[in-house]
Amino acid sequence: MAESDATLTPAESGDGAARVAVLLPLGLDTAYDYLVGDGEAAPPGAFVRVPLGSREVTGVVWGTVEDGAAGGVAPEKLKQIAAVLPVPALPESLRRLVDWVAEYTLAKRGAVLRMAMSVPAALEPAKTRAAYLASGEVPERLTPARRRVLDLLADGLPRGAMELAREAAISAGVVRTLADSGALMRVSLPAERSPEMPDWSLPRATLSADQRAAADALAARVADAAFSVTLLDGVTGSGKTEVYFEAVAAALEAERQVLVMLPEIALGAQWLERFRARFGAAPALWHSELGQRARRETWRAVANGAARIVVGARSALWLPFAELGLLVVDEEHDGAFKQEDGVIYHARDMAVMRARMAGCALVLSSATPSLETLANVRSGRYQSLNLPDRHGGAQLPDIETVDMRRTPPPRGAWISPPLREALADSFAAGQQAVLFLNRRGYAPLTLCRACGHRMQCPNCTAWLVAHRFSDSLNCHHCGYRQSPPETCPECQVTGRMAACGPGVERVAEEAAALFPEARSEIVTSDTVAGPGQAAEFIARIEKREIDLLIGTQIIAKGHHFPLLTLVGVIDADLGLAGGDLRAAERTHQLLHQVAGRAGRARHAGRVLLQTYMPEHPVMAALSSGARDAFLKREAEARESHGQPPAGRLAAIILSGRHEASVAGTARALARIARGALPKEGGIEVWGPAPAPLALLRGRYRYRLLIKCARSQLPQPWLRHWLARLDAPSRVSLRVDVDPYSFL
Ligand code: ADP
Ligand code: ZN
Repeated sequence: MAESDATLTPAESGDGAARVAVLLPLGLDTAYDYLVGDGEAAPPGAFVRVPLGSREVTGVVWGTVEDGAAGGVAPEKLKQIAAVLPVPALPESLRRLVDWVAEYTLAKRGAVLRMAMSVPAALEPAKTRAAYLASGEVPERLTPARRRVLDLLADGLPRGAMELAREAAISAGVVRTLADSGALMRVSLPAERSPEMPDWSLPRATLSADQRAAADALAARVADAAFSVTLLDGVTGSGKTEVYFEAVAAALEAERQVLVMLPEIALGAQWLERFRARFGAAPALWHSELGQRARRETWRAVANGAARIVVGARSALWLPFAELGLLVVDEEHDGAFKQEDGVIYHARDMAVMRARMAGCALVLSSATPSLETLANVRSGRYQSLNLPDRHGGAQLPDIETVDMRRTPPPRGAWISPPLREALADSFAAGQQAVLFLNRRGYAPLTLCRACGHRMQCPNCTAWLVAHRFSDSLNCHHCGYRQSPPETCPECQVTGRMAACGPGVERVAEEAAALFPEARSEIVTSDTVAGPGQAAEFIARIEKREIDLLIGTQIIAKGHHFPLLTLVGVIDADLGLAGGDLRAAERTHQLLHQVAGRAGRARHAGRVLLQTYMPEHPVMAALSSGARDAFLKREAEARESHGQPPAGRLAAIILSGRHEASVAGTARALARIARGALPKEGGIEVWGPAPAPLALLRGRYRYRLLIKCARSQLPQPWLRHWLARLDAPSRVSLRVDVDPYSFL
């Protein structure tokens, strides 16, 4: 735990040079001691430049070190801090989060800190630009051009030379002459744009009684200015966004900063529009597609308090908010909040810790809350608010299953007769429809009809996915690409290679053949690359330029299209294969979410789920609307198997280019673990086993799974075992605490 900010500054701490521990954003766990120069102050959180070997790096003062502290290095051996950077300190709540996340995920503290220092350029001195003010002196010769400049500056606002030249229609030479003559005064202004200021006091929507009650409760949590977690559980279209906007308004009014996390910020165009309508300004944005300049400006604006609200992806959790008053995690159940590479963490869970460290309110919003969150509600750790009805009297869509055994599509086709009819009805009524299939490309598999050979990625345990638009076979794991072969690479027979199974491109082809008049569009991460393209898409849907959307999960999220009345799910069973412990829960969430796009306004919505198992509990829950009964059963099943959220899991994934050494190391680790299990039991070790993705990007992979009761923590055991393992350097090892992917 970091020391408090109230420690004496080193300059005041008496004789001799003061020492501080500095954490560096490198793959290191320990903070290094440095001396602070005479008269210099380096309080905890200060960003400092320090020598490290032959180079100089930027780190953060993590704490002060008492003279003669045990294990300390002799002062004469220590190096001195080179510079304390003139930027706001890393807030204590964020330093404590770094420590906590490192402890929980077993990541190196430096690696976690690196996420909070992702914009090194933001720590450099802010750039300034030259601007001019009228000095009050009048030049000897007042030409019309010079007069125009002075007239323009009469309002007292400084302007740059280019701006003056443009606005006064003069050449830049005139500005220079005026400055030389003393009629203009040169001042320097920050070169960076500052964020727009949201206005919380603008008129709000008239809330329904349920919405009002929920909004008031959330605003009260914000006013408490203490740690709390509240689940906002409301059906799709119930106005959850509208409701938590009231909490945002309360936080802004209280002069606190706000962070809203969305799972897929690239698709947040409608959200941004609504925010602007409510608060008269755009929030600051944070996601991976931002350019360097925007990153630098936003990071700095958050640190110095100029940015009052940020909406961002999971990485926004690591921004240096010093005055956080509210955190919102929208679509809290979404898997996109789990980061699977680098430091492996769940941004929703870490948001809970950030709110705890910052002492502020957290809102988790969802129409299909995760079992983890519901368990916390049940145990009383989280509060819960419910919005049972759609806004404005809109009805929830009618969800029906289409039994693919009874009414199958024609051979080689994927749209069943009932779905075809529903589409025809929808187009005839001038309404819009969605066909949902969570599979990019044209076909998930290409095989040889002569010998049965299947086209596989050379680097991964995965079939190559056929893409028609790019005319290639692609690996979705490693990016490998090749052109589709005419001749089977195995049996050399030509002309028998065939695409098997549907992807969205293939469904689009079929839909175009059935409804040549319908204007359709494919929406996947291949066709919608960034926020700009997403916004354009959304605008075209809103303007009714598209009748039919065919897409993957990215169309399932958040959108509100009043004319969209029909959702057809091509393969509702898709997510249930594979049998991972959350398969049913996740399929239910995803299908519920995509179904929730239908009939959100005046027109009733209809959802058709094409399935081979209409009696499956997920399909039954969706078509009967019995969400809570389904979740209760799921929770009970997990409980009886000691699975999350009733128990805890951690995975260890070993990988390397040499299969035998990976397997050998995995076995050695399992032996160590089994040899050191607690006598009283309660912790189980499963495996090692080759991962389902046994080969990924050319690396062989083995997995171990550790399972223990909720009341225990696996981390101390993991540390204990790993410390005893002598792993060869060519085998790398990753720990995934609370795994969501089992591939
Ligand atoms: P959810 O997030 O629960 O799916 P939204 O917040 O997106 O629901 O609301 C659905 C639609 O209803 C949006 O277009 C929203 O602007 C509108 N809406 C919700 N509540 C109100 C309200 N009280 N007054 C006006 N419009 C509302
Ligand atoms: Zn691959």
